Amino acid sequence: MNKIPPKLNIANLPTRIEKLERLSKELQGPNIFIKRDDETGTEISGNKVRKLEFSVQEALNLGCDVLITCGGIQSNHCRATAAVATKLGLKSLLVLRGSDEGSYDGNLFLNKLLGADIKFITSEEYKNNRLSIMEDLKLSYENKGYKPYIIPEGASNGIGTFGYFNAMKEIISQEKELGLHFDKIIVAVGSGGTHAGLLLSQKILNHNCEIIGFNVCDDEEYFKNRIYNILEESKSIFKTETNISKKEIHIIDGYVGQGYGLCSPENLAFIMDLAKLEGLILDPVYTGKAMFGLAQEIRKGTFNKKENILFIHTGGVFGLYPQKDLFLF
Ligand SMILES: *Cc1c(COP(=O)(O)O)cnc(C)c1O
Repeated sequence: MNKIPPKLNIANLPTRIEKLERLSKELQGPNIFIKRDDETGTEISGNKVRKLEFSVQEALNLGCDVLITCGGIQSNHCRATAAVATKLGLKSLLVLRGSDEGSYDGNLFLNKLLGADIKFITSEEYKNNRLSIMEDLKLSYENKGYKPYIIPEGASNGIGTFGYFNAMKEIISQEKELGLHFDKIIVAVGSGGTHAGLLLSQKILNHNCEIIGFNVCDDEEYFKNRIYNILEESKSIFKTETNISKKEIHIIDGYVGQGYGLCSPENLAFIMDLAKLEGLILDPVYTGKAMFGLAQEIRKGTFNKKENILFIHTGGVFGLYPQKDLFLF
């Protein structure tokens, strides 16, 4: 009862918490801290490895030898999965939304270096059929004698959620060490698992803070439903009766820009300014949008000036390189 499933130990944990002194001062608002989950590793860096520690352990327990997953062409999750697979002597098969352009950059380049098998599919196929495509590929690998394990997009399912369930526990013990209390925890939302894990843990541990997500694609309604469904799955694994209603899932919408992976010029300028101000590199797909959203909301007065805010740097640096030409110096 109420047991966290077993996991691998491959991420560099705990990750540091630092204060963004100059940004806090510039915004004349709350104290902004950042948790460096971009430093969970190098090849495996970012938030996905916390979830993969659980998913891949389950795959190993089932005797699987191929990890199949999916994502955008520059998916950090796919790169982390390829890295974990290779590190453990498993094979990986990535189903990527987009086409093989023959030139490889960022995460796609790393996937190639790490020896992942890659299957490109169209946006349409990705949206409507990614699960059945992965199931078909699983069958064809089984026919070749392999035992594949499917990890859904972003490892955002019941089992993966425990990665951020544990991260919340880590934050609570760091609060004690630092003598601080975080009133708000901010995270970018792409497939919902990070937010779901933090929220479930916050509720179960009865921690007095608010988890707020900035969605980087789709909209608030979409993610409330998606996070709700992930929570239902992880609650049944954890065997808890804790109820979390859709109303308790807090998402701030309005900072998606032109769509997934597409950042507005003002947002790109913000990423450049912040790099110069704090020596902090954010990515244009996730963390750069969420931090831009946070700064805008602070300027609008959404947050109390006395609060402590913890922003989770979920990684993504490799996704910066394919977009370098969009930055105007
Ligand atoms: C995947 C990802 C996120 C979003 O996390 P989800 O659990 O998918 O919502 C945020 N930041 C980075 C860098 C990511 O790769």
